[in-house]
Amino acid sequence: MFDTLSDRLNGVFDRLRGRGALGEADVREAMREVRVALLEADVALPVARDFIARVTEKAVGQQVLKSVTPGQQVVKIVNDELVAMLGGEGADATGGEAVPLQLDVRPPAVIMMVGLQGSGKTTSTAKIAQLLRTKQGKKVMMASLDVNRPAAQEQLKVLGEQAQVATLPIIVGQQPVDIARRALESAKLQAVDVLMLDTAGRLHVDEALMAEMKAVASVSAPTEVLLVVDALTGQDAVNVAQSFSGEVPLTGVVLTRMDGDARGGAALSMRAVTGKPIKFAGTGEKLDAIEPFHPGRVAGRILGMGDVVSLVERAAQAVDAEDADKLAQRMMQGQFDMNDLRTQLMQMQKMGGLGMLAGMMPGMKKAKQAMAASGMDDKVLLHMDAIIGSMTKTERSKPELLNAKRKKRVAAGSGTSVQDVNKLLKMHQEMGRAMKQIKKMGGLKGLGALFG
Ligand code: GDP
Repeated sequence: MFDTLSDRLNGVFDRLRGRGALGEADVREAMREVRVALLEADVALPVARDFIARVTEKAVGQQVLKSVTPGQQVVKIVNDELVAMLGGEGADATGGEAVPLQLDVRPPAVIMMVGLQGSGKTTSTAKIAQLLRTKQGKKVMMASLDVNRPAAQEQLKVLGEQAQVATLPIIVGQQPVDIARRALESAKLQAVDVLMLDTAGRLHVDEALMAEMKAVASVSAPTEVLLVVDALTGQDAVNVAQSFSGEVPLTGVVLTRMDGDARGGAALSMRAVTGKPIKFAGTGEKLDAIEPFHPGRVAGRILGMGDVVSLVERAAQAVDAEDADKLAQRMMQGQFDMNDLRTQLMQMQKMGGLGMLAGMMPGMKKAKQAMAASGMDDKVLLHMDAIIGSMTKTERSKPELLNAKRKKRVAAGSGTSVQDVNKLLKMHQEMGRAMKQIKKMGGLKGLGALFG
């Protein structure tokens, strides 16, 4: 996701950064290119237009163009506006962090899931239920109100068993509003914290569907109404969101199939079109493939600065918390050396290999492309580990010591080539640079708190 957009934007910004002085015409020219890139990524036209207008207005300001690093400043403005576009600003502004679910009511808090058939609604219901159970210790119950699709209720029951979340027993023939009432009663009796209602989907938005949603909402008084849309459907997802948001009181969006190769338009337009934040991103078919949607991190990913925070979080799950803590500290202080890189490589292996992490990690994408081009695959992680293993202790903490002679020794020791050693050094360098940049831009407000 976002790959093409990311490449296009980086091309524009590399050129901007490459210049010392910038004039208004340069900025306008760059913004024309950004606009085309956004439209090609399937961003809705009015949304792209507004975005460009806001960035241009800020970027042609005297302060920016006269500053020492005008290119960098423009990128920072784009970053901030991207965060806003993705929902990091507004009534429920979180400064780029994910917007949490509102569950702070007398239990049971009701979450109503709505969306078209095939959008991933039932799967997302179970994913969120599991997340609430495991991460927040909530007692959750799910009920399927989908009486159109014969297997829908059964599907939720099976997912409930996998997620270890209770489902409302099925009564064949009962209608949605009655199921909702029964679910509420049952949830109260069993002291359930959160009741999730998986409503029926149809192939298209129609009146009967909307009438049913409204009736269910009026008997269950949900605190959250989450619209599930498929990111792969691009503009259609935006149209669906528009239709729903006019009819039911949405509180947020779940964007599924973010693991696919969607161009990103849906994610970028959703907030502007619905006025509601994307709260979760679905990233796969498995029940744990869901993440809170952090506008700040996603913007960082689009701008090619890597999603270091998510990466560190993933790492923290795979390794000792104390190690992760130290690593994060060192990253922020720009002291990331070969030992740290090695720890990371080993974690990557544990976390699902290169494919999973490409794009999350600064510099990794390019490194991966280079490796793919030279016919290497996940074995690459092992090669890298072998290379670092062949370095001396001093070399590991001061990789700049590696001259031609030392590189040759390391290559021989690890059964690789000097070229491989160089690639690794280059990747390490790029990571270091990207981290410094992120730090300079102050884009990772959460990081300190996360590891403080
Ligand atoms: P519903 O008709 O809206 O309830 O859709 P389902 O929950 O039954 O999902 C339809 C299909 O999409 C299933 O095969 C799911 O496994 C798959 N799916 C759901 N969410 C995701 C996601 O985030 N990524 C991927 N790759 N597949 C998903």
